[in-house]
Formats: sequence, structure tokens, C-alpha cells
Amino acid sequence: MAVRKLLLLPKYEKVLRRKSRPVKGVNRSVRTLIRDLRETLETQDGVGLAAPQIGVLQRVCLVVRGTDEQGESAEETTPEVIVLINPEITAQSEDLERGYDGCLSIPGLQGYTNRPLTLNVRALDEAGDVVDYEFTGFDARVAAHEIDHLDGILYFDRLETLEDLYYLVDDPDDEDKVKMLPYLEVHPEYRLMPDERIGMPTQGVKTIMD
Ligand code: ZN
Repeated sequence: MAVRKLLLLPKYEKVLRRKSRPVKGVNRSVRTLIRDLRETLETQDGVGLAAPQIGVLQRVCLVVRGTDEQGESAEETTPEVIVLINPEITAQSEDLERGYDGCLSIPGLQGYTNRPLTLNVRALDEAGDVVDYEFTGFDARVAAHEIDHLDGILYFDRLETLEDLYYLVDDPDDEDKVKMLPYLEVHPEYRLMPDERIGMPTQGVKTIMD
């Protein structure tokens, strides 16, 4: 059991871009991995964590269900950590919801993305049993984000335009708050990129993280 080092962009982009392999059986080493993920997540202000983020390319991730966009517990729910092993998306709503994605591997940035409003996921649990989950609203957003990590997909890839990307900076008027500073205000040169170029931030990652 251990708190593991979080892999951050841009240094570990190559690892975070790789596709993780399925877990063959929920054995001791997988359970140790899950414990490490849990303990690492506990040290972070986050609502999910995927194994590749600690450098393990296996299809395992955690989703904290029952929080809101601030990571606070949503009304009348107690957040619980759901372990997803070899998750498969079995269905998703056509309705998309625009909201924020943040990522522990990409500190200091946040972006607006469209994600399904509901997501049905089949996965193994820690006992190795098949479980079907239905995630809705912000939970669906978190689950989609974490499952993306297992395929080497980052939320940058889900941005439609760099205008949806923001730096989080301390609010000079209130030390408890953060302010959103448009990425393009800091790096106006990126305005030259066409908005419709889906996937653009991916290719730009080496520079947009500078
Ligand atoms: Zn992430």
C-alpha cells in the first residue's frame, strides 16, 4: 500500500497517451493497485483516478460517485468510490451536457467539454464480479473522463475549441477562490488555429503546456 506519484503533463504525456491493457484476473496485485489508487486519490483534490495516471497501464480506474462539479458531495448523497475494472460503456445518452473537465495529471487547467448525460458501464468489481452501473450528470462526466484515460484519451481531445480552455489562478480578491483565466488570453497566438480542428489541443499539447 502506498501513495504513488501522479504522472503529470507534459513530462509523462507518452505514458498517458498509451492504451491500457485489460486485467486478466482480479488477483492480489490488482487489489494492491486499487489500494494504491485509493490512497493516492485520498491525497488529492480529485473525483477520479485511473491507473495510467500512476504509471500502471491496466484498465482500472476509480470514480467518486455523488459529488458535484466542485468535488463537494452533492445534495443528500454520500460520495462513494466506485472501482471499475475493465470497464465497457454499454450505452450512453445521445444528450450531451456541457460542463467542466479537470484532470489531476493536468494541474492548473480546466476545460469545457460535452459529455453524455447518462452513461451505462459494465465492469468487474474488486471481487471480480460483473456489475452494471448507471452514471448520470456529473458522475457520468467523471466516469467518461476516467474511462478515456484507459484509452490514452485526455480531455484536451474533447475540447471543441481552445476558447473552452482556462487556467485556474488564485483570485487576488479572495484567497479562498480561484479565477478562470482564458488560456487564449495567456497564449493569444493560438487564436490562429481554426476552432473546428477537433483534436487540435492534442497535437498542441507540447506547447500548450509550456
Ligand atoms: Zn484525468
